[in-house]
Amino acid sequence: MVSYFGNIYRALSTIAIGMGQTWKAMFRPAVTLQYPRERWELPVNARGILFMNADDCIGCNKCVRICPVDCIYLDAVKAAPDEDLGKASMGNPIRQHVIRFDIDMFKCCYCSDCTTVCPTECLYMTDEYENGVYSRDNGIYHFSKYSPEEAVALRLREKEEDERKAREKEAKLAAKQKAAEGKGKSAVGA
Ligand code: SF4
Ligand code: SF4
Repeated sequence: MVSYFGNIYRALSTIAIGMGQTWKAMFRPAVTLQYPRERWELPVNARGILFMNADDCIGCNKCVRICPVDCIYLDAVKAAPDEDLGKASMGNPIRQHVIRFDIDMFKCCYCSDCTTVCPTECLYMTDEYENGVYSRDNGIYHFSKYSPEEAVALRLREKEEDERKAREKEAKLAAKQKAAEGKGKSAVGA
């Protein structure tokens, strides 16, 4: 009989303790958020996914050189001699077509070094941090404004221009040699 009432007492007191905790928790300020409906407000200098404004990149390579994990892939083609690519918004002249500017955000350690050396401030860290993807390839962000076809065409044009310059150089050299030989012969004849 005593244990019967003892059990009832224990059950009721356990419920009372549990409900007490529940009531207390209901009035305690929440420490969690209902993500993704709610999000933390990030500090202004938060380091999220990198962004590069392709209109302002001058292809200087500084970001590539400083990156400690080599996760920026840049490829640029020189502008043609008669081509004016304008200036970046900070006034730096643009002399190259940046045909590839990829960042592997899975390798990036978010150190932000690349953003500090960028002379045109076109590379910066956003407050975007949701970069969960299903494929490894989707972690590589592409920022070049040129399509793959345009990039191939520009590369080809550069190759042709280099070949033309090489031919010109060779022709000049040959003409110089010929002139030197002519001088030598006339000196012997005299
Ligand atoms: S933040 Fe650091 S690791 Fe990431 S791309 Fe820039 S330099 Fe490289
Ligand atoms: S440092 Fe800036 S301007 Fe230079 S290549 Fe990188 S993103 Fe472009």
